[in-house]
Amino acid sequence: MPNDSEPDYRIPQGGGVPWRDMGVEETHRPPERDVEITDVKTMALAGNFTWGIVKVETDAGVYGLGETFRAEAALDMAGRMDIDLEGENPLDTDRIVELLNQRYTGCGRIGQAAFTAIETACYDIKGKVLDVPVYELLGGKYRDEIKIYCDTHGGESLGEAEAHDPREVYTPESYARAAREVVDAGFDALKFDLDVPTHDTYDEANRRMDNEAIEHKRELVRAVREEIGYDIDLGMDLHWNFTVETAVRLGRAVEEFDLAWLEDPCPPGKLDAQRRVREKLDTPVLTGENLVTPSQFHDALDAGIMDIAAPDVNKCGGLGEYVTIAKLCDLYGVPIASHNISSPLGTVAGAHVSAAIPNFVAMEYHARDVPWWNDLAVRTHGSGPILEDGYIDVPEGPGLGIELDRDVAERYLTDDSELVI
Ligand SMILES: [Mg+2]
Repeated sequence: MPNDSEPDYRIPQGGGVPWRDMGVEETHRPPERDVEITDVKTMALAGNFTWGIVKVETDAGVYGLGETFRAEAALDMAGRMDIDLEGENPLDTDRIVELLNQRYTGCGRIGQAAFTAIETACYDIKGKVLDVPVYELLGGKYRDEIKIYCDTHGGESLGEAEAHDPREVYTPESYARAAREVVDAGFDALKFDLDVPTHDTYDEANRRMDNEAIEHKRELVRAVREEIGYDIDLGMDLHWNFTVETAVRLGRAVEEFDLAWLEDPCPPGKLDAQRRVREKLDTPVLTGENLVTPSQFHDALDAGIMDIAAPDVNKCGGLGEYVTIAKLCDLYGVPIASHNISSPLGTVAGAHVSAAIPNFVAMEYHARDVPWWNDLAVRTHGSGPILEDGYIDVPEGPGLGIELDRDVAERYLTDDSELVI
C-alpha cells in the first residue's frame, strides 16, 4: 500500500461513486491457465518522447509488456496498480480493464494510458500462455502487412527547426527534400505539419492566418506533391490551431493537391466548429488522437466531426477498447489512421490490433529521428526488423511476438529508471 508520503490515486469505495468490485479472488480454470499476477514493474526509455514500458509478472514463468503514452505521469500510476492486480488472472483482460476503470474513476487520460499498458501486457501474457499471437485473440487477421505512415514533422528534424529561423526551415525545398527521403525509404504514406510559422506577424492567439501565411502553406504542399506525385498518401496536421474561417480558407487553398487528410483543424472540444469545417471541404478531416474511450468516440462520430479516426493504441484503454472503438467507427463508415508516437513495443501492439480490424488504413511512425528504433525490439518468431520498407509484417510469435533488447534498453534508460526486463 502507498505510505503517507505517496499519493494514492485510487478513489475510495463509497463516496457516492456507484461501482462494483470487479476483483475476483479465485477463478476455476485448469492448472495451465490458472495464472496469477505477482507484480507490476515499470521503466522509461529516452526516445524522441519518453517511452513508458510496463511489465506485468506472473507465477507461470511468463511476463507481459505494454507501453503507455504520457509516460512521466502514467508510469507512476501503472506501477502503483500492483495492489489492485496481484492475484488476478491476467487472462481476464476485459474484466481487468473494468476493474481498473472502476477503481480509478475520474483519473482521465493519464489513468486510461496506464490501464492501456497493463491491459496490453496482459494480452502479451495471454498470447504466451495460449501460444498464439495477440491478433488471434482480437478476432483474427484482415491483413498480414500493416501500412505505416511516416510523420515528417515540419520538413526537417525538430532539432534543426528549433535551431534556425523558421523562415529558413519551413521552405518548400525542405518539405520536398524530406518527402523524397521518406518515400525513398519505402513509405507509401506520410504526413507533415502544416501549422508551422510563416512570418513575424503570425498571431497564434487569434488562430487566424492571413493571405501570406495561407499562400506559404499552399506552396509547401505543392512542393511535396511535385516531388512525390499523387500515388502516395499525404496528410497534413494542423494541431487544433485554427478558427473555422481560416481552416476552411486553408483547406480550400490545398484542395487541388488531393490530400489523404487534414488533421485536427480546430481546437479540441469545438465539435460544432470542426463539423462546419468538414462540411465545407472535400478533403477528409482526421481527428481523434486525444479521444481515449469508446464513449468519447461515439459522441464525436455522432457529432459528424471526422472522415477518418485517429485513436492511439497506447492511450485508449487497451487493445480490447481499441477494437470497440474501431467497430464503432465502422458503424459510422469511418476508417482508421492510428495516431502513434511510441517505441517498437507500442507500435507492435498497434500492428496486432490493426491486423484485426476491417477499417484500418495506416498507422503512424513518429521516430524518423531515432536511428536505434528498430534495434530495440527483436521478433521471437522469424527474423527481420520490425519496420521495413514502410510496412510492419505482423509478428507471429506468441503474445506480441517480440522481446526488447536488454542492451539497447539499458543504454537508453532515463536517469531515474532501472532495467526491468
Ligand atoms: Mg496529430
